[in-house]
Amino acid sequence: MIDMRIVVDRGRCTGLGICESMAEDVFEVQGNGSLRVLIEDISPARREEIQAAVDSCPTEALKLVD
Ligand code: SF4
Repeated sequence: MIDMRIVVDRGRCTGLGICESMAEDVFEVQGNGSLRVLIEDISPARREEIQAAVDSCPTEALKLVD
């Protein structure tokens, strides 16, 4: 399996940080409320964990793509 990439729809993200609470080393909400993705390429070993964080976003701002 190959790495997946995290894509953020910035128009949808409201900066609440639920994704950050599920994967703190990958997602970081900045002081101004914008989301910073610290690791964009997700290895197969972390796929399930990061998919869960992506799915937890209430505004559907996150996607994992091939
Ligand atoms: S959970 Fe969604 S809305 Fe909240 S910071 Fe993460 S991407 Fe943005």
